[in-house]
Amino acid sequence: MLFKDVYYLGEDFEARRGDVAVRGDTIEYVGPAAPAEDFGEIISGGSRLVLPGFVNAHCHAPMTLLRGWGEGLPLDRWLTERVFPFEGRLTAEDVYWGSLLGIAEMLASGVTSFSDMYSFCGSVCEAARLSGIKANVSRGLLSQDGGALRESKAFYETEELFNTWDGACGGRIKAEASIHAEYTSHESFVRELAEYAKACGAGIHIHLSETRREHGECIARRGATPAEYFERCGVFEARATAAHCVHITDADIEILARNGVFPAHCPTSNLKLGSGVAPVPKMLSAGINTALGTDGASSNNNLNMLEEIHLSALIHRGAAEDSSLTPPGEVLKMASLNGARAQGRGDTGVIKPGFKADLAVLKLDSPRLTPLHDVLSGAVFAAQGSDIEMTIVDGKILYAGGEFTSFDIREAAKKAAAAAGRIANELLG
Ligand SMILES: [Zn+2]
Repeated sequence: MLFKDVYYLGEDFEARRGDVAVRGDTIEYVGPAAPAEDFGEIISGGSRLVLPGFVNAHCHAPMTLLRGWGEGLPLDRWLTERVFPFEGRLTAEDVYWGSLLGIAEMLASGVTSFSDMYSFCGSVCEAARLSGIKANVSRGLLSQDGGALRESKAFYETEELFNTWDGACGGRIKAEASIHAEYTSHESFVRELAEYAKACGAGIHIHLSETRREHGECIARRGATPAEYFERCGVFEARATAAHCVHITDADIEILARNGVFPAHCPTSNLKLGSGVAPVPKMLSAGINTALGTDGASSNNNLNMLEEIHLSALIHRGAAEDSSLTPPGEVLKMASLNGARAQGRGDTGVIKPGFKADLAVLKLDSPRLTPLHDVLSGAVFAAQGSDIEMTIVDGKILYAGGEFTSFDIREAAKKAAAAAGRIANELLG
């Protein structure tokens, strides 16, 4: 496949003009004019911007099933009163259809890989396998799973996930360990799971200082901030993705920097749940590899990465009254390369020869992108998810012109809606 005479995001995260050639699953040429070889299909025209595929670094894909369920509550009541009872009624099949629906939303907004924390991980992996997307999948561990870690259902499911799916589909699917959060887990669990992740050479996925209450209660309970606590428990000795990081202190930022932790900034979720605004410019200044995520569809309420890109470019400028913050190239890097690094994927996230052909193609010819004096500001401030024309993973077109090539979206939407309706009816009596 050859993208001829297009805009593309260079490896310096500036807009460039030229050709991007793909052979098999790999980017073979990037530059002013591709050699006159046959790369197969030619997609030409300057009204396109080829971007590295987006990495949704924090998601609960099956939570499409809970979209709009339990609105208006603070995080703790929302979880205990609405989310956990709903989730208690989910079956593996429900989670499969919810995941596939979530993956469809992600592919349609240029996402080529996502990091997921949920249960019924086999269903999440099965949906990822069918769709062709990349995924780092983890079983979120909660203390309500009870007892000693190695006797818990969650650990059994974590081991099953690693044994069955880690490295599956040519490495497209990776297993990770996960602790849901400081306030939902015992210290002994946390320490043991950190050891397990290290022994497997795997990543670990957590929620960190999402709300002021969570952060304050941890200090009261343990005499340490959540970041200090997780560091003490050895969690950051593994490759760690820490979702949210809204209420972290300056000392916490040093901990994250020192340990090479990967924060996943989720601006929509943080704003919607009234959690606050994460100190992203401070984290970036500290050299922290900050990635971007949607969180689940029940706290967002969609999985549109362009919206997260848009918001994360805006809110830090407004909060700090400084329009020099979060420039478009840096935000696009957060959405792609930084996420790929958080996932431990060193072969993707940038448009460069030898890297995997994981690409999102943005059409630049809609009225909201015409005329266009600055291509990257157009992509970040003006574009909408619907401007994504094509999403490519490992050189395969998975989404183009509104159609999904690997699964039946109508069936997924119908089955997911039926599952969500059944559970809502059971709970509402
Ligand atoms: Zn989350």
